[in-house]
Amino acid sequence: MNNKYELIYEGKAKKVFSHSESDKVIIEFKDDATAFNALKKAKFEGKGKLNCLISAKIFEHLIKNNIPTHFIELKNENIMMAKKIKVIPLEIVLRNTAYGSLCKQTTIKSGTVLAKPLIDIYLKNDELNDPLITKDRIELMKILSSKDLDSIINLTLKINGILKSFFKNIQLQLVDFKLEFGYDSKNNILLGDEISPDNCRLWDLNQKNDTIVSLDKDRFRNDLGGLIEAYSEINRRINNFI
Ligand code: UDP
Repeated sequence: MNNKYELIYEGKAKKVFSHSESDKVIIEFKDDATAFNALKKAKFEGKGKLNCLISAKIFEHLIKNNIPTHFIELKNENIMMAKKIKVIPLEIVLRNTAYGSLCKQTTIKSGTVLAKPLIDIYLKNDELNDPLITKDRIELMKILSSKDLDSIINLTLKINGILKSFFKNIQLQLVDFKLEFGYDSKNNILLGDEISPDNCRLWDLNQKNDTIVSLDKDRFRNDLGGLIEAYSEINRRINNFI
């Protein structure tokens, strides 16, 4: 990355740099993959580029559908420019189908299609291992007002509707996904972070039988192999569709 930009934050999968215009940032997507709160780590050459390209296309689609996001434009294959936001320390997970931690923590069977979307909110805090959090605890901790929490929940439900049909068009089942939001300088709530196979579960609908074929980070979490092939396939389907 050009040294005229100053690194302001480095996360597990991305680096964020300052921009000469103080309301913008430059986000570089890394090839690193982590799972289970970074207990499991690896590098996949080309993952950063694929997640950046996939996220950019999805953000553009959401913006067209009137969802406020931080995305401005792609700078190159693994770098995007975005609006600077103050990230709200919550991970908003929406589930259409039961899988992953929901099935480890409840008696709901893996693969159950939920009668209505379920929203689970986690506190974004690595030291505490991102615990599941309640609405009352969010208020108690003064993370955000109940009005803003409601806005975020409504936006998440709207985003789910848009993404579910987007992915269905390219033969993918949107099982669940995680979103992060933040405030811009005018206190507007914007969707931030990324939307990629790193934070969405996507199952291939091009299967003749009921076997689950994950085209997402479960390939790494569950040692299935073929992560880059899966992410490339998603990128290919998106490009053929748009
Ligand atoms: N997720 C994420 N980051 C996290 C935890 C979960 O992006 O730190 C995503 C994950 O990829 C999946 C959804 O949120 O699409 C639900 O994940 P779950 O709570 O089932 O956790 P997991 O099974 O990954 O531990």
